[in-house]
Formats: sequence, C-alpha cells, structure tokens
Amino acid sequence: MTASVPPRSAIAPEFRWNAPSVFPSAADWEAELAAIAADLPRLRAFEGRLAEGPATLAEAFGVLEDLYRRVNIVYMYATMTYSVDTTDQAAAAMVGKAQGLYGQALAAQAFIDPELLAIGEDTLRGWLAANPEIAHLDHYLHNLFRQQAHVRSAEVEEVLGMLADPFGGSNNTYGMLTDSDLKFPAARGKDQGEHDLTQGTIDKLLNSPDREVRRTAWEGYADQYLAFKNTLASALTTSVKQNVFQARARRYASTLEMALFQHNIPRAVYDNLLNIFRQNLPTWHRYWRARRAALGVETLQPYDIWAPLTAEQPEVPFEQAVDWICQGLAPMGEAYVERVRQGCLGDRWVDVYPNQGKSAGAFSYGAHGTHPFIMMSYNDNIGSLSTLAHELGHSMHSYLAWQNQRVLYGDYSLFVAEVASNFHQAMVRAHLLKASPDPAFQINIIEEAMDNFHRYFFIMPTLARFELEVHERIERGAGVSADDLIALMADLFAEGYGGEMHVDRERVGITWAQFGHLYVDYYVFQYATGISGANAIARRILDGEPGAVEGHLDFLSTGGARYPVDALKLAGVDLSQPEPVEAAFAVLDGLVSRLEALTAK
Ligand SMILES: [Zn+2]
Repeated sequence: MTASVPPRSAIAPEFRWNAPSVFPSAADWEAELAAIAADLPRLRAFEGRLAEGPATLAEAFGVLEDLYRRVNIVYMYATMTYSVDTTDQAAAAMVGKAQGLYGQALAAQAFIDPELLAIGEDTLRGWLAANPEIAHLDHYLHNLFRQQAHVRSAEVEEVLGMLADPFGGSNNTYGMLTDSDLKFPAARGKDQGEHDLTQGTIDKLLNSPDREVRRTAWEGYADQYLAFKNTLASALTTSVKQNVFQARARRYASTLEMALFQHNIPRAVYDNLLNIFRQNLPTWHRYWRARRAALGVETLQPYDIWAPLTAEQPEVPFEQAVDWICQGLAPMGEAYVERVRQGCLGDRWVDVYPNQGKSAGAFSYGAHGTHPFIMMSYNDNIGSLSTLAHELGHSMHSYLAWQNQRVLYGDYSLFVAEVASNFHQAMVRAHLLKASPDPAFQINIIEEAMDNFHRYFFIMPTLARFELEVHERIERGAGVSADDLIALMADLFAEGYGGEMHVDRERVGITWAQFGHLYVDYYVFQYATGISGANAIARRILDGEPGAVEGHLDFLSTGGARYPVDALKLAGVDLSQPEPVEAAFAVLDGLVSRLEALTAK
C-alpha cells in the first residue's frame, strides 16, 4: 500500500493548498518573520502607558491586532508546509522558528491584561461608552473581568504558574505508554494471515469484513491496555487530582464548574446533555438490534460496531464530492455554496491527496487575512467525502468570522466549531439519502452517518458520564482503583448496549484508557453538544423555518465575539434545553429506521 503513495513532488499544483497566496516564496516568509520580530518593540512601547486614556488604549490594541494577525499567518504557513510533508527538514525548521516568534509575541503582550485590570472595570466602561473607536473591546473586557473572581494573589499565581510544566507529566506518561511503549500482538484473519496491529492500523482492522480480524484486533488491543491498567489508572487519577487541586486553589466549587467557566458555559448544558442522552438510549439499543440483524450474527460483539454492512463501496472522486457537498448546502443560498465551490476548485483551499510524509488525519486551518485551508488525504470514498464536508464546515465558519469580525474575535472555541462542521455533514447526508434510491449507496451513507454518531453521540457522552463520576468520587476523597474505573465504564457501556450486545466487562471496561481526551478535563462532551447543535440547525433549515438560514449565517459570522452558548442562540439553538439533543436523537432514529427497512430480509 505504502509503495503506491506518491512523493510530494508528484502532486499537481491544483491539488495542493494555495501556499503562494500567503507567501510567494519561503524567502518572503523569512522576511516577514524577521520584520515581525523587529516590530515587537512597537507593542512593548505601550507598556506602562495604557492608563493614559482611551486614545492610547485604542492605539495599543491596533498594534496588538496587527501583530497578532501577522504572527498567526507566519505560524500557519509554517505548520501547513510541515503538515503536508513532515519529511521536509526546512519546513520543520520553519515551525521551530515560528514557535519562537509566537513565544516572543506572547511575552510582548503580557503587560496588557494586568494593566487593564489595574485600571479597573468602571473606568474602562466609561472610556468605552464615550469612545466608539474602542467599543469593540466590550466583550474582551467582560471576559477578562469575570475571571477576576478566580485570580489569586501575585504570590499564589506565581506558584500556580510554576505547576504547569510538572502537571503536564501525567498526560506525558500516558502518551509515552500508549504511543511508544505499548506493543500489540498481530491480528489474525480466518485464513490465519497476520495483520499488524498498531495505533495507526486499529481503525482499519475493526472495519474489516473478516470477523476474525476484527475480533483478534479488538481483543489484542484491549488486552495490552488491560496489562497496564494500574499504570494507566494511576496516570488518569493523578491528572484528575491535579485538576481538583487547581479548582480548589482557584476557588471553584468543583472541577466541572472550573472547566465550564472557561467559556462561560452554564452547568445546565452539561447536565441536560447527559440527561437527554440517557433517556434516549433505547434509540441506540434499536440500532444495535438492527446492526445484529443486518450482519446476521447470533450475538453482536463490540468488534462488530464498525463491520461493513455492504461490500459495495461507491467510488467518489474529489470533484464528485465537491458537487455533492455543494448540492447538500444549496439551502444555505448561492453565495455560501459558490464560496465553497470556488474554495475547493479555484482558490485551492484544500491540500487534497495523500503523499509520502503527509500528516495523518485532517484539519482546517488558516488565519485572519488568508484563505481557510484544509489538510487531508482524500481517498475517493464516502468517508473522505464526509471528512471534506466536515472540514469545509470549519473553513466556512472561519471564512465568515474573518470576513465579519476583527482579528481579536477571529478565533472560536471547540464548543461552537464542531457545530459548524457537523452541520455540513448533516446537510450533505440528508441530500444524499434523497438523491439516490440505490440500496447499497443508501447503506453506505447510513454507515458513514452511524460511524460519526457512534463516536460523537455514543462514545463521547458515555465518556462524559464516566469522567463526571470519576471527578466527583475523587472530589469526595474516595479512592479510585483501576478495577473501579473498569467497573464504572463497563456499567455505563452495559446501559448503552441495553442487552443487545455482549459485554466483555474487562475489555469494554478499559475503554477509558484508550482516549487521551480524558487528560483535558470535561472536553469530550463538546463533541456531543456539537453534533446536537448541528442537527438541530440542519433540521430547522431543511424544514424551511423562516430565518433559519440567516440565523446560522449570523452564528458563523460572530466567530469569537460572543460566548459560545450565546453565539448558538443566534442560530436558534439553546443547548441548556432538551430540544437540540432530542433533535439529534430524532435524526439518529430516522437513520436506524431506514437501516431497518433497507436490511429487512
Ligand atoms: Zn472538527
């Protein structure tokens, strides 16, 4: 397989990201890097001066935004250049230089927030009210001052700051163990042929039509994690304890409160997600039943979750994918669709095909003042179509945010990001399910959808339930052993499987160890709220609700200028209420019904 992947040099320019639109050459990039470094003193010149008044403040933020924009562009260019060919030593060196510059820029702006805090909120509010040229700082200041309640004395802050590096140790240990030290036994097919089992091959093996390959891969993978269960439990509980410490040092009532506070997300959003998820688990139980019937197996096993339901996999060339995505997005209006099409086929937003040395996975990137860019490895199949649709959702979100917001508000959080991306997938699926009556094609679309829902809307909320319980136990001072973690996880999955799947309690129960996401506390729930918000918005638009398209465009265009939950309200979605999560379950329910009908013998 590897032999057929071409070198970077063999990729035609029209399928490469449009690097020359950012810098005509690497020499121009170097020149800009040096120019920015030489310009940093322009920002430093404002140190100790912000209290002079609104005019100085306006000027300082003008310089800050200009430098921030330029640093982001330089950083993005280096990262993209490296990601598309990690064997490129010059690109690796560029990333190092860009990181150095980034650090210098952060240091140069470090005086700003403390000086603003010293001026005080009332004074600053007065300045904003009287000076429209700095009115845009309103949200920035609100966010800065609300955090004050949890900022401690200078001495305490200094000590907390010194903990950042050693507290990264548990995550580091986890990464070393699972990425480097764990070695997995080869999987074995029914023909006894061996298949390498690594972090890079596990997904593909679980996708094999050969059940023996899937079984041996799934068991061999879980067994290696189980062999190190005590080490893995120690690393995870240490990470949680560090988080409990941070929450207490910063005077939060709980770790969950601390995590949600960061983006001003009400607790109701978390509780609501988990409650509605739990109430709707019977929809998942129906899916397991439908899958068991479709596969014709006596007992459904966790390693059957990714088994293909049809051998007929349609070929989807890149241009075809762009067409289908554009057709699916048609309800968004011509301007939106044309931007997507032009981005893919004219402006070269996408670095399309795999080449030797290209990073795995896919992401959307870019900077205020450049195109949004996508790095991926397009493989002419439905999965690639879906990835492209997803990343283009991020790209359009950025595009509209950059068009409509200042540099200060051009970035947005994961909480809203995954709404924009999943929205594209939801729209494209809805279109393709109507577009072709061919049963094999329909099954392919449903499988792609279920794969996505399973990860975002089954695994992630199950992990969210797990991590809340683990944090609460540790916050209460209870001891948590490896076997406790395994038992808790097994219980949660047993509930999710509802008796429709065999639960090997040890191997299912070790699932927590297979997700490094858990080292960022209360991170995973945002995937589930993301897919919920996305499907709720897609439903409104597909139902032709008045104002739904405009609301979604407003949401995308607001970027980081509002708190995530408020931004989503622009699109008519309130994630503290049951409706969006229920909307996602309604879509899931519809997919299961279709699957039942398509596979009924
Ligand atoms: Zn994404």
